[in-house]
Amino acid sequence: MTSHPIDRLGRPQRSLRVSVTDRCNLRCTYCMPEESYVWLPKSDLLDFDELERLVARFVTQGVDRLRLTGGEPLLRQDLDVLVAKFAALAGIGDIAMTTNAVLLPEKATALRAAGLRRVTVSLDTLQPERFAQLAGRDQFVATLAGIDAALAAGFEQVKLNTVVMRGRNDDELVDLLAFGRERGIEVRFIEYMDVGGATGWHGDLVVPRREIVARVAAATGGVEALREDDWAPADRFRAGDGTVFGVISSTTEPFCRTCDRTRLTADGRWFTCLYAREGVDLRGALRSGASDAELEALIGRVWTDRSDRGAEERFELLHRRGPLAEAEHLRSDPHLEMHTRGG
Ligand code: SAM
Ligand code: SF4
Ligand code: SF4
Repeated sequence: MTSHPIDRLGRPQRSLRVSVTDRCNLRCTYCMPEESYVWLPKSDLLDFDELERLVARFVTQGVDRLRLTGGEPLLRQDLDVLVAKFAALAGIGDIAMTTNAVLLPEKATALRAAGLRRVTVSLDTLQPERFAQLAGRDQFVATLAGIDAALAAGFEQVKLNTVVMRGRNDDELVDLLAFGRERGIEVRFIEYMDVGGATGWHGDLVVPRREIVARVAAATGGVEALREDDWAPADRFRAGDGTVFGVISSTTEPFCRTCDRTRLTADGRWFTCLYAREGVDLRGALRSGASDAELEALIGRVWTDRSDRGAEERFELLHRRGPLAEAEHLRSDPHLEMHTRGG
């Protein structure tokens, strides 16, 4: 049995999101609204051996669930080789990935064979022109093919993530649920967050969880809340027509009290909160010769000292709230970007 160190707010360390690249083949308006970005230097990116060694240290400190993310994780070459390395680590119970699915048709089978168990695909609209607008690239057909490929590859679970934005895609809640239901895929509606690259964020664009639920209830004849895993970020519901769906309410009803997860960037910066300004430079420690025991002690110390509650603190700002960082600031420190630290 893995033992999970506890932080200052009583939360166990369990889950690590590993961003394997800061690059992306889409330009979603809420994440990468600019055309050009300052990328992490290639020589700073952790190679697979370094990633394996670091993740193994996290496993000794309670982590038993991994999620690959980015940027777009499928842009990282030979990702299946990395998945196989992670899957071989004793103590890892789950490996999942969040992806835009554009490259899944060519990669899904190898990833499944390597040990990737679950896939979450981000899809914000079922309308091709709207997709091109929201994702900044005309890749709707490729994304749908990617979802089919994920289903065909036999992952244990395929889910959809939809960022809901008022006036942009909030008229599609029920259509997206129907799309998921036809394919046996659970949809999770995500409240628009004011993180990193969301420089166009405004409170008026957020559709609160209670409104999402009310709209689904009105369209399907009621909604029942399902009670289960308190540590999962999504609250789950059953709609009147039987469709089960989730809502991730980071903006209007943050859930920091149950946060058991942290994020590692592709260049080895470790962030104990999505909203954290500073991260721990694990690449520096690794490349300057730290032993396994020293890295484990560092990870354990940082976790037990953790008291982050970034989304709750943002919530407390209420109407004084705007984007977390301005475009200029993001250019000077790409680690502030959502596509760098992983969603
Ligand atoms: N490229 C992959 C993808 O889009 O699935 C993985 C990385 S992306 C940063 C991870 C998740 O963060 C996606 O589901 C995306 O929709 C979500 N995300 C990005 N910016 C967001 C924002 N401003 N508010 C809410 N969710 C956001
Ligand atoms: Fe790329 Fe994902 Fe960000 Fe969209 S949300 S720009 S697909 S990293
Ligand atoms: Fe966890 Fe920070 Fe997100 Fe709160 S804002 S749930 S503490 S990562």
